[in-house]
Amino acid sequence: MPSSDLERIFGPGGELSRAHPHYEPRPGQLEMARAVALSLEAGKHLLVEAGTGTGKTLAYLVPAVLSGLRVVVSTGTKTLQDQIIDGDIPFIRDKLGLRVSAAAMKGRDNYLCLRRFREFEQEPFFSNFEDEGPFSAVRTWSRKTEAGDRAEVPGLPDEAAFWRSINARGDTCTGTRCESYEDCFLTRLKRRASSAQIVVVNHHLFFADLVLRQDAYGRVLPDHDRVIFDEAHLLEEIATHYLGLSLSSFRIEELVSDAERVLLSSGPHGRSPRDGPAREVDLAAQGRGWGGRRGRKGSARRSGGDRGPARRLPQAQTARAEAERFFEIFRREGEGKERPWGGRGQWRRKGQWGRAGERPDTGGHAGTSQGRFRFRPAELQPELAVAYERLSAALDALVAATAPRSATSEEAVLIERRATEIMATLRGILSAEEADTVTWAEARGHGVFLGAAPVDVSRPLSEMLFERVEGAVLTSATLSVLDDFSFARQRLGVGEADELRISSPFDYER
Ligand code: SF4
Repeated sequence: MPSSDLERIFGPGGELSRAHPHYEPRPGQLEMARAVALSLEAGKHLLVEAGTGTGKTLAYLVPAVLSGLRVVVSTGTKTLQDQIIDGDIPFIRDKLGLRVSAAAMKGRDNYLCLRRFREFEQEPFFSNFEDEGPFSAVRTWSRKTEAGDRAEVPGLPDEAAFWRSINARGDTCTGTRCESYEDCFLTRLKRRASSAQIVVVNHHLFFADLVLRQDAYGRVLPDHDRVIFDEAHLLEEIATHYLGLSLSSFRIEELVSDAERVLLSSGPHGRSPRDGPAREVDLAAQGRGWGGRRGRKGSARRSGGDRGPARRLPQAQTARAEAERFFEIFRREGEGKERPWGGRGQWRRKGQWGRAGERPDTGGHAGTSQGRFRFRPAELQPELAVAYERLSAALDALVAATAPRSATSEEAVLIERRATEIMATLRGILSAEEADTVTWAEARGHGVFLGAAPVDVSRPLSEMLFERVEGAVLTSATLSVLDDFSFARQRLGVGEADELRISSPFDYER
């Protein structure tokens, strides 16, 4: 890419100045754009620390567009992702007159699943009365949305629990066997992205895709030539989550509820869902909310169906009780501990690295955290092993009960797969090597979250990413420590890379 192209755009009297009345040419921005162009062209990694006001988004987007390569731009937050796709890309296209095709992709959880939404609409169930208003907004929006992205729904709270029952998450998707596959928002999005030159994602999706690619299970992102990470100071934090394991009690709760629904909707007593329960066991009425002795916040309410807690099958009841027993060990363990493990990021040098804007596997449920604490599985034995075996046996029995439905129900097939994945994740967490992994637990609201996080992600990142991808650009306002990039390079396993520091233009002015 000729350097004169960049000067024509970023230089004094250039196209940016003409397009934007308040634009002032910044030497640092042009310098960064040149370095990014070189990195993309030569396929060499680049670390750029660009101070506030540099205009770094355009400094990497314009060279990316001019390169003609397919570039994935990954941001730390969805906010920046939206800003790029709704603000910067149209600006480049309309004001700078550059031809560019771009698509934004978020994690699957952000999109509406047409199949699950249809099912939920038939028998809505809300764990909180307050969710009925937002659901009504979702229903109206669902009739007209083109993208199916929850960010479009006005006022939809992050913690709206029903969203987990209707989103397009992977473990509940029946893929090409789904009757809505062709209309599915994700199918259409993947097609759009596969023909776009610039694909804008966030780090969460990028690493979810990176992990998927290792097992050849599939991939979410289209193949690409280069990757640019903005807000790169968040990479280690987010990579740690995706390269580790995590599981919440909500995931088991949802599995049990879905299995129960499959069973009730087709028997075993030949009943239709509206005929009433085969056997009612109302745990809520016994004062035993599903999430442990704290119970649910608010009241459960069914409307138009029997999906609520009043309708229980024996296998589901046993699975719930065993899950409660299992997670109760961690609730009890956490009580009285004064946050002995301060949370993710503890092993990083204090003050140098930001925290990810999102929590891992929150289950879309809000609640007051008792704090995350570190636990050692060996110290919770033999109680933990017994509880694990009992939970495993209970889920096996539940899966066995749904198995006869597998011939006719894709959901029944998925239930077995989900149960297997859940138990494999739990096994992985409980058997994590102490030397290179931190095992943690957190009680939050009426849920319990468990995880195993690698202490050092540099080697897997190096092997999975930086040795395979050419010309990765990492940029942030805070990437160096005392003007030195060694710490970031070492923590992220970047290897050989060019480096550039651009001071904030505000510093020049002072
Ligand atoms: S293909 Fe998957 S995500 Fe899409 S509508 Fe069907 S089940 Fe839902």
